[in-house]
Amino acid sequence: MQQKLKIAIQKSGRLYEDSVKLLKDCGIDVKNGINKLKTEAENFPLEIYFLRDDDIPQYVEDGVADIGIVGENVMYEKNKKAFIVEELGFGKCRLSIAVGRKDDYTGVGFLQGKRIATSYPILVEKFLAEKGISAEIHEISGSVEIAPGIGLADAIVDLVSSGSTLFMNGLKEVETVLKSQAVLIRNEKLRADQLQLLDRLLFRIRAVKKAKNNKYVLLNAPNNKLQEIIALLPGMKSPTVLPLAEPGWSSVHSVLSEDRFWDIIEQLKDAGAQGILVIPIEKMII
Ligand code: ATP
Ligand code: ZN
Repeated sequence: MQQKLKIAIQKSGRLYEDSVKLLKDCGIDVKNGINKLKTEAENFPLEIYFLRDDDIPQYVEDGVADIGIVGENVMYEKNKKAFIVEELGFGKCRLSIAVGRKDDYTGVGFLQGKRIATSYPILVEKFLAEKGISAEIHEISGSVEIAPGIGLADAIVDLVSSGSTLFMNGLKEVETVLKSQAVLIRNEKLRADQLQLLDRLLFRIRAVKKAKNNKYVLLNAPNNKLQEIIALLPGMKSPTVLPLAEPGWSSVHSVLSEDRFWDIIEQLKDAGAQGILVIPIEKMII
């Protein structure tokens, strides 16, 4: 019987949907995991375990799961023996320090001797030690943002994405302890056959990530502007150039990365490009 690779993903919560979507985008057919502990993919040798995110690093360290998807925040807080193999680009948030909106915060010195409520005592301890601050850390497991309002703490350290929860609780964000996103982690001692499966999965994950970060662009260019327009296009190799039915014009096809996209589109327009079409890419293998 062929060995299967075991992956642990969050059972429900903020990482669940993106984790399942990533596997599906990799062509792995994942049956719905709601209320299930485990499922098997039919078209890839993968067993999927659905767990609380906090437990995933431990399961991966123990080898109950070979690999897992968790936030860096959880990975670093739990400090288990597992490697990060790939950043996955979703579940982005930051672990931030917040104080009362009316507090006169001028720097980390404000925190000296204060009471700080958090679910991330290890990361907070490390941050404070690096800054030479000593404070009282109160570990609480949920609803950290209400701690100052009920007199339990002077500051909090919690995950933030938009900041609206902090705002609603009369708090302001003053420091970032850690920037976090979902990562793929692996057990330290995988066998050769498991590593081979992990490589196959990683190949697909990278193709999906690349595709998400790039767009396929088609445009029409007058031939006398062609050199200038081609020079603006980074592309995978050199762009494809095809003659249009109308004399003196060509169609140019290329790939643009998301982060430079708008800049380059503006320059292309200024250089005389017309009829610019932008198309999402599903997979990208280079
Ligand atoms: P579980 O029941 O699995 O323990 P949880 O309540 O600890 O779930 P979620 O709120 O679902 O966790 O968050 C899971 C992860 O999603 C976080 O650890 C973090 O990496 C990421 N995340 C992204 N944005 C946010 C955010 N705004 N607030 C909290 N977590 C976020
Ligand atoms: Zn959790």
